[in-house]
Amino acid sequence: MKVYSKIEGFRLWRRAVGELVGFVPTMGNLHAGHLACLRVARQSAPVCVASIFVNPLQFGPNEDFARYPRTLDDDLALLEEAGCDAVFVPAIDEIVGPAVGATVRAGSLASGLEGGFRPGHFDGVATICLKLFHIVQPSCVAMGNKDLQQLRVVGQMISDFNMPIHLLRVPTYREASGLAMSSRNRYLSDDSRAAAVQLYEVLRRTWVQVSGGTEVGTAQRDAVATLEGGGWQVDYVVVRDSETLQAINGATREVAVLGAARLNGVRLIDNITVELRPTESSTKTA
Ligand code: AMP
Repeated sequence: MKVYSKIEGFRLWRRAVGELVGFVPTMGNLHAGHLACLRVARQSAPVCVASIFVNPLQFGPNEDFARYPRTLDDDLALLEEAGCDAVFVPAIDEIVGPAVGATVRAGSLASGLEGGFRPGHFDGVATICLKLFHIVQPSCVAMGNKDLQQLRVVGQMISDFNMPIHLLRVPTYREASGLAMSSRNRYLSDDSRAAAVQLYEVLRRTWVQVSGGTEVGTAQRDAVATLEGGGWQVDYVVVRDSETLQAINGATREVAVLGAARLNGVRLIDNITVELRPTESSTKTA
């Protein structure tokens, strides 16, 4: 497995490996969810690249950029074992120049939900994804359904900028308890980790209620109250169209129940998606 920290060196390798490259952008601290993305990328392309870059542009001033877990040696060992062909691990200066020049303004899918609670977050995600896509030149990119809004924002950018990239959606990989794998789970104490599965349980119950005829607003309020009763500070629990991220309607092909909440100071997000009728994307439920 090749490891590159400089764009120039990576590009030399990239030119030699041909057209079809699968790409998994990450912020490191890799877990089984990231490796699931890598497997999907490998199934779709003969050559597979991962990047590890804790993107400063996607963190707000009071967020956890400085303390975000950085575990490069372990990450490289996992990627090598998983059969990754090359890893791009740039330093901040290699990717983000001293002055902020041109940036991407993420489109309409970036407003509300995570975009509402984390102003500028998706502009930062989209800007760095665009740069990484230019450097890596992937034919396909695998991203997790866990970060559904991110997946939609990046999908919209790929489409709006006419990039020849196939975006692959990877089902959320969960611990046996149901807790979605996340680098931020590291911040949870053992007790909090056991309690954190409640977010997933509440999302599932919300869908059971809505599909059983409960009015969406009522089910959402019920979900928030349940989580608050469990000690969570809730940012949102909403039932949305998984493609538009707007309210569901008669044209909705897939529903998403999305939630974001803080447990003992640790902010977690999760969602479930339920296909109502066939969509273009491959995943049924996640
Ligand atoms: P991150 O390192 O958190 O930026 O995540 C890198 C990629 O891995 C993103 O496309 C995430 O959506 C994806 N990912 C993170 N956690 C999971 C998970 N539990 N299951 C599937 N994909 C995930």
